[in-house]
Amino acid sequence: MASHIVGYPRMGPKRELKFALESFWDKKSSAEDLQKVAADLRSSIWKQMSNAGIKYIPSNTFSYYDQVLDATSMLGAVPPRYGWNGGEIGFDTYFSMARGNASVPAMEMTKWFDTNYHFIVPELGPDVNFSYASHKAVDEYKEAKALGVNTVPVLIGPVSYLLLSKPAKGVEKTFSLLSLLPKILPIYKEVISELKAAGASWIQFDEPTLVLDLDSHKLQAFTAAYDDLESTLSGLNVLIETYFADLTAEAYKTLIGLKGVTAYGLDLVRGAQTLDLVKSNFPKGKYLFAGVVDGRNIWANDLAASFSTLKELEAVVGKENLVVSTSCSLLHTAVDLVNETKLDDEIKSWLAFAAQKVVEVNALAKALAGQKDEAFFSANAAAQASRKSSPRVTNEAVQKAAAALKGSDHRRATNVSARLDAQQKKLNLPILPTTTIGSFPQTLELRRVRREFKANKITEDDYIKAIKEEIKKVVDLQEELDIDVLVHGEPEVSITMQRNDMVEYFGEQLSGFAFTVNGWVQSYGSRCVKPPIIYGDVSRPKPMTVFWSSTAQSMTARPMKGMLTGPVTILNWSFVRNDQPRFETCYQIALAIKDEVEDLEKAGINVIQIDEAALREGLPLRKSEHAFYLKWAVHSFRITNCGVQDTTQIHTHMCYSNFNDIIHSIIDMDADVITIENSRSDEKLLSVFREGVKYGAGIGPGVYDIHSPRIPSTEEIADRINKMLAVLETNILWVNPDCGLKTRKYAEVKPALNNMVAAAKLLRTQL
Ligand code: GLN
Ligand code: ZN
Repeated sequence: MASHIVGYPRMGPKRELKFALESFWDKKSSAEDLQKVAADLRSSIWKQMSNAGIKYIPSNTFSYYDQVLDATSMLGAVPPRYGWNGGEIGFDTYFSMARGNASVPAMEMTKWFDTNYHFIVPELGPDVNFSYASHKAVDEYKEAKALGVNTVPVLIGPVSYLLLSKPAKGVEKTFSLLSLLPKILPIYKEVISELKAAGASWIQFDEPTLVLDLDSHKLQAFTAAYDDLESTLSGLNVLIETYFADLTAEAYKTLIGLKGVTAYGLDLVRGAQTLDLVKSNFPKGKYLFAGVVDGRNIWANDLAASFSTLKELEAVVGKENLVVSTSCSLLHTAVDLVNETKLDDEIKSWLAFAAQKVVEVNALAKALAGQKDEAFFSANAAAQASRKSSPRVTNEAVQKAAAALKGSDHRRATNVSARLDAQQKKLNLPILPTTTIGSFPQTLELRRVRREFKANKITEDDYIKAIKEEIKKVVDLQEELDIDVLVHGEPEVSITMQRNDMVEYFGEQLSGFAFTVNGWVQSYGSRCVKPPIIYGDVSRPKPMTVFWSSTAQSMTARPMKGMLTGPVTILNWSFVRNDQPRFETCYQIALAIKDEVEDLEKAGINVIQIDEAALREGLPLRKSEHAFYLKWAVHSFRITNCGVQDTTQIHTHMCYSNFNDIIHSIIDMDADVITIENSRSDEKLLSVFREGVKYGAGIGPGVYDIHSPRIPSTEEIADRINKMLAVLETNILWVNPDCGLKTRKYAEVKPALNNMVAAAKLLRTQL
């Protein structure tokens, strides 16, 4: 009877770590205060797992910022610009790498596989002097042991660490990161030896990169690394943990061939072929850590189904060698359902957050050992059944409408250049038209009004009045600045000032969505997001934005952009139901947004922006799955606007600059105008077009970076527009900032937009 948890959220059930970190960074509390909060969180997590009956409890999955940065610290791989002089790495150096300091910016951050978690990317070059510079893994092991919990210390595996790194400045093109393997393994050996000496009997290496598309050279690095570690590891049970997808046949072969390894952790929730691989060949005497409880979602496990999968596996690997586990670290799910006071009981019975998943893992392990908790299993079966049959989940009409979309195609009837002509006749815009992405600064006053309205302290009439006044201010400002296509500023959207707002606003008005009070998931550092839960068929009971957009349009003679979030972004920033394919849910959302688009058009809105900020980030890990995802994602977008007239101009906006690889899908979205984040990578973006990709729709690569308070000058902006004009046709280029302005101050936005408009006007006179 064995159970294991891959990793656990660090933030705490009420984001205790977030508040402790931010207070420490603001110098409102001491390092000791922060350490105390962290130690209390760790101890309560270990005790919770131990009380639940979990046999293999992880340690070193806590982090003050990020587990990859912890590995960088362990290896002493601090980039020289942080001025670290050796010795044990302390908060100063650690948080400087994470967040920057007065003189040096932070290290780069990027997405952890296809999750919404972001890690700090190690920067490695040929000159790094690795040294054992953070004893955190050993300290945490000892700390747990002192509390009476013998844990499995977790390290990022050496090969994944290198594969997730980037070459340092100056050697980008020439340096092979894997060539550093012989330099980092000695540090790993020191750590392993210390863990052994401290009494560890198991060790877990997270090697999630094994699920990616790896060539044989990269696969060989795994073999080489564990060959080298074998003698140091002897005497320990060694678990190699993989997650987020199944393994290719080659990767599986490499994994089970690794020397000195005694256990394999596999994600049995994602990917279809893992079970077959195990059944076809599992090494005798080794352990299988079977990840049947989903760490990426908030749904209660279907215990009966998992139990039968486990029974099948037991027949292959042997009773003694099967360990029940989570599919990946629980870092990617919410913390504890206990704190959800506002969810209704039926929906709650369908859910399991991290704390509940620990209990599920243990219940499955006990059941395998012949001690099935019948009451727990039958309550679970009842909840599964209620979820299947609940009328709040199923909406026949929506199911039918979405099913009818499969296999069909939706496109606007006229091609984009003819549409642009028709739109131009109606809109009569100058060349190089100026616009913004949607949101305007969120003032303190505005936030107060929204808070008071949510708390029922002011009436709806007062609220509407305040929002209208705000819209008027934003409209007047844009007219004064002489911007061509206006926005209403989104004052009704941003509640938490997080990117999720644009999903939450629509989710709250659509059927099939539920919201949590404390369902936070770490995004990076102290930042968390609270994704909505899509539990049922999605429909739109009534218009969502028409009132605000037409109110705004009535204040100006210039075109006012309607502002919507696209279906793919709503999907990718939510917890999605797991009882139907993702594309089906996406199609349902697309149909709801389609209704809204058409209502906006009817209300006289001639320009409608449908944001797909997160389309690129939903791209699956495996290349073999890209085409299918892009096909339904792009199709979903087209569904939203296939029914509008030629004269209605559809805009879309994307945040990620790294979309050269999906440029053909972007073109296939068939929007009339796309605005894209670009400030940090002009060259990269323009190179696609320089290489001859034909682009006939309107395009507005951001002309200045809204993530910085810096005010760009007119010359600087004109210069950048000129660079774009060298590659793109004059008549398709739009002039706009990178992204929404909600995080900026008016003192920055006014002069920046003023210079932006001046630059556009200057160039118009020269063309
Ligand atoms: N329309 C949104 C805004 O301006 C877009 C935000 C985003 O791209 N993340 O805030
Ligand atoms: Zn954006």
